[in-house]
Amino acid sequence: MEFQYWHPDREKIGREELRSLQLDALKKSVAGALRTDFYGKRLAESGISSADDITSLDDVRRIPVTTKNDLRAAFPYGMLAVDKSEVVRLHASSGTTGVPTTIYFSRNDIASWSGLVARSIYSTGCTEADVFQNMITYGLFTGGLGFHYGGEEVGMLVIPSGPGNTTRQFRLMRDFGTTVVHATPSFLLHVESRMRDEGVRRDSLSLKRAFAGAEPYSEDARRRIEELLQIDVFNSYGLSEMNGPGVAFECQCKNGMHLWEDAFLAEIIDPDTMETLPDGETGELVLTTLSREAMPVLRYRTRDMTAFYTEPCPCGRVQRRIRRIKGRSDDMLIINGVNIFPSQIEEVVMGMKEVGNNYLIIVEKDGFLDRLTVKTEVNAETFKDDSRKLNALREKIRHTLQTTITVNPRVELVESNSLPVSEGKAKRVLDSRPRSW
Ligand code: AMP
Ligand code: ZN
Repeated sequence: MEFQYWHPDREKIGREELRSLQLDALKKSVAGALRTDFYGKRLAESGISSADDITSLDDVRRIPVTTKNDLRAAFPYGMLAVDKSEVVRLHASSGTTGVPTTIYFSRNDIASWSGLVARSIYSTGCTEADVFQNMITYGLFTGGLGFHYGGEEVGMLVIPSGPGNTTRQFRLMRDFGTTVVHATPSFLLHVESRMRDEGVRRDSLSLKRAFAGAEPYSEDARRRIEELLQIDVFNSYGLSEMNGPGVAFECQCKNGMHLWEDAFLAEIIDPDTMETLPDGETGELVLTTLSREAMPVLRYRTRDMTAFYTEPCPCGRVQRRIRRIKGRSDDMLIINGVNIFPSQIEEVVMGMKEVGNNYLIIVEKDGFLDRLTVKTEVNAETFKDDSRKLNALREKIRHTLQTTITVNPRVELVESNSLPVSEGKAKRVLDSRPRSW
């Protein structure tokens, strides 16, 4: 196999060189963080008042971890390390409750993020001759614009199709000779079944590759997409707190994702004891930004469970590979690629006076896509109302939920005391989707 490197000066260096580069960058990130309201206080409490207090990479463990709740608490500008006038873009992700977590980018941040995505795309064998259809949500979600800029940086023709409307997707693929697509794995499976329904012949398309990410999926699911669509599928991992896509990506070897360690300092910890785990053991990934100006984030608890490979990759890159994400150490649900916390649903449902005390969140597969149903008990008085009133209430709950979580749920109203009551910790989520790892 012939390998190609977008940043050979970063991808093909020695481990020691990488470590010294990481130490310099870590000091810069700490210096930036010290300028923010949030880290200014946080770091002072741990006795770090200047970047010179960091003298080795191990010193990162002196820094307390950052959580999604910290980002919410610092909303809107508590973690901003530059003047607002230097910020050129923001993206946002769902928080555990209504407050989103917002990430800010300076012009340099956009450039380095695009470079990381370009590097990821290029490592799969794509070149400027490719036509790239980006079938993922644009907007506040980072997947759309992140891949868009990365694709342009490689020099590919980028078609910003966004998701949905498969008939139009097929049309674009045929009209422009799309060779590579980006989507969630569930949307790729959906596309394949629509292809059969709509009688789209495989040989009328020029597809060769797909980047699939934003949600967990198994090796079996990858193989299935590859066989059905006759393409190579590459796993793409990222999170908005660390820019978005372009954190870890599979190279042509398709065996684990290279984590771009020159841009992110990675640790794997035991989520219960917070101890650092040796390479090869599964734990929670903790990441520190090494090249972000506007908003450095130190020791971010991703909640994603994975492990480092211990052997180097045949492609010769210095950056270590992580395994497919095995799940999360919190209760976040990913529904058709959208992150949802059960607490967001609870806030809406419990905020309505007509609603009783119990509710149940059901997540299941409907074909290849995920379906969310929220069953809520309504108090006895309301339940006696005529069906028109009940329908209006159901619609009100559905609409409020959709506005809050951006996924359209089915809402079922049930009588008080009809949902199972568990002794001890309430079990409010029934996720019957096949385990995806
Ligand atoms: P967001 O901040 O909205 O981009 O969501 C990021 C989260 O999506 C991550 O923390 C993961 O839980 C999940 N995620 C993203 N990419 C993958 C992937 N390739 N495999 C499994 N989970 C993923
Ligand atoms: Zn590799």
